[in-house]
Amino acid sequence: MTSAQLSETLAPLRANPSGSAVLLDIDGTLAPIVAHAADASVPETTRQLIIAISRRYAQVACISGRRASDARAMVSVGTIAYLGSHGAELLRPGWAEAQFDPALAGWTGRIEEFRRESDTAELRRRRVRIEDKGPIIGYHWRGVADEVDARAAVDAVAASAQEAGLEVHWGRKVMEVRPPVRIDKGLGVRALLGERRLSSALYAGDDTTDLDAFHALRGLVQDGLLDRAVCVGVSSEDGPPAIQDEADLIVDGTEGVRQLLAALISE
Ligand SMILES: [Mg+2]
Repeated sequence: MTSAQLSETLAPLRANPSGSAVLLDIDGTLAPIVAHAADASVPETTRQLIIAISRRYAQVACISGRRASDARAMVSVGTIAYLGSHGAELLRPGWAEAQFDPALAGWTGRIEEFRRESDTAELRRRRVRIEDKGPIIGYHWRGVADEVDARAAVDAVAASAQEAGLEVHWGRKVMEVRPPVRIDKGLGVRALLGERRLSSALYAGDDTTDLDAFHALRGLVQDGLLDRAVCVGVSSEDGPPAIQDEADLIVDGTEGVRQLLAALISE
């Protein structure tokens, strides 16, 4: 990707920032992937670029599988919106707390019960980390001593979740158990962008869950609610090939995203 190609792809947004949205995944897109998700952080230079973009563009949001409040604490920019739990939670600028999609609220008890039952000595011995995300549970095995063995234990948890009528989603060395309610970044993005008529929107992401957001942007164009969608795939060693297949533009890791963000505000 040359800087000329980058400028050309971004031209519709750069020409009309006050009618455009910039939507960014966090882990693997803004924050480099690290062995323990809790240690991930957004570099200060990236943060400053997001602040500059938020001053110029109509809508800027970060979208994450993390809780919306965790996402805001991590990115630490108070003037943008955060869609957490894969789009099921919305935290607007200035809000103290995120709002959950009402369809999920009724499942919190069942999910909590499953989380307690799944927290076994088997998983602990394999150092699988359980992340409590309210109506979603994450099981992480990146960086454990024996990732193959840990993955087998996570497979067993996935099987029992499915037996219990819950849904299972796989990401980059993470498995999530969710209620059987549709939750995806695409629905979240569509709800957020549906609030006002915009001309262009860009979404950047590195993982399978980001494909739903790509599809949502293209769906908005098809429905005549958006003129242009720019889907940016962030390439990485263990990222899914589909991200690159479906993207309009591919950038190389979080450093490539930083160049993309700089290009959005360059004169
Ligand atoms: Mg990601």
